[in-house]
Amino acid sequence: METQTETTNTVRRNQRIIFFPLPYQGHINPMLQLANLLYSKGFSITILHTNFNKPKTSNYPHFTFKFILDNDPHDERYSNLPLHGMGAFNRLFVFNEDGADELRHELELLMLASKEDDEHVSCLITDALWHFTQSVADSLNLPRLVLRTSSLFCFLAYASFPVFDDLGYLNLADQTRLDEQVAEFPMLKVRDIIKLGFKSSKDSIGMMLGNMVKQTKASLGIIFNSFKELEEPEVETVIRDILAPSFLIPFPKHFTASSSSLLDQDRTVFPWLDQQPPNSVLYVSFGSTTEVDEKDFLEIAHGLVDSEQTFLWVVRPGYVKGPIWIELLDDGFVGEKGRIVKWAPQQEVLAHEAIGAFWTHSGWNSTLESVCEGVPMIMSPFMGDQALNARYMSDVSKVGVYLGNGWERREIASAIRKVMVDEEGEHIRENARDLKQKADDSLVKGGSSYESLESLVAYISSF
Ligand code: UDP
Repeated sequence: METQTETTNTVRRNQRIIFFPLPYQGHINPMLQLANLLYSKGFSITILHTNFNKPKTSNYPHFTFKFILDNDPHDERYSNLPLHGMGAFNRLFVFNEDGADELRHELELLMLASKEDDEHVSCLITDALWHFTQSVADSLNLPRLVLRTSSLFCFLAYASFPVFDDLGYLNLADQTRLDEQVAEFPMLKVRDIIKLGFKSSKDSIGMMLGNMVKQTKASLGIIFNSFKELEEPEVETVIRDILAPSFLIPFPKHFTASSSSLLDQDRTVFPWLDQQPPNSVLYVSFGSTTEVDEKDFLEIAHGLVDSEQTFLWVVRPGYVKGPIWIELLDDGFVGEKGRIVKWAPQQEVLAHEAIGAFWTHSGWNSTLESVCEGVPMIMSPFMGDQALNARYMSDVSKVGVYLGNGWERREIASAIRKVMVDEEGEHIRENARDLKQKADDSLVKGGSSYESLESLVAYISSF
């Protein structure tokens, strides 16, 4: 499904863009989709990457790759840091702290090499969470744009952390306030803020998010993997409050994320899906980093079977805590109706006509991929922005059911039936179809996403 974007605003290939994604699946996918998109518009592409979660460079013969930063994957600095249990994320803290000199050195070399090739490095595009890169870019007079890989709504909520902290939400002792409406975000309840899992705007994670917001605002432009019609009020706020121009482009509408998958995708699902009736299969996946304990895993499995719907379930190795995959399930447990795989070509699966709904952890890529294919959702957020995405999709876009009370088989089965087949879920299925249509319309000449992409290309060309 590589829908090559029409090149209406093509530049000559003498302008190079340097990309620096965060080395995690949910960040690599949108960055490489964006790189593909800008390549299709005539720019040359260099991708900076770490050793850890190295992208499959052979899938991108048209890009130049440059290894940077973590020479030693066993470096003990990557453990024993704030995100304990998600050790991989600790690179965020380490490199934001001490990555500047090496990045500056690499960028200087790349800029020099470009000059020798009669090229010009137009700009650096980094993940917003690499906040240290703003000062590096400034010191080289290199324009820096950021890719924010979550929603505008999430960005605005993160920008309000100090306010949430002052209001006592982040470390709430008083349980009677859980259903209080959040100031400035009327669709949120205090319990949604707590579900983010961040304790203070002044601890290391809070500071990192604060720096992310600050250096995003200081950048020369913000690119969001989204579209205007999805988050209209938030677009207005961002335009009003932030000087840097924003560009909203729904990447899944342009390129699949398959070529940047870090795990092998099981493509045998397609002949199986081809045999299923339209809208009859529930696709279940909770992203690349979530974990559940054995009890919850079994509750999920029972909920799926009890729903009596056909399902395709991604159980990523490591998803169930402990050294197991699906050994907890008795032989034949999922029966005829279920299929379990380790990793799927998710975007293409969601595009398959057999898929009727998506049970998701509400990571932003998964959310947008579902929206772009008109697939309604059941949402079980684990942490961070997932809770905000789930709340927005259930209460604002109204394209899914928010399962916010943990894992309970009856509740799970009932939510699945509601979104897949029950009469009372028809408005959800209809809203999902309408939203997909809006995404499609936004891509047509004159549509919001079309214009956003054109202005991004013109903007970068002007550097
Ligand atoms: N994904 C995939 N195969 C799977 C499950 C997920 O290719 O079996 C991809 C999915 O299409 C998405 C990314 O992994 O692009 C997950 O990103 P998301 O933001 O949804 O969640 P995260 O993993 O960052 O929590």
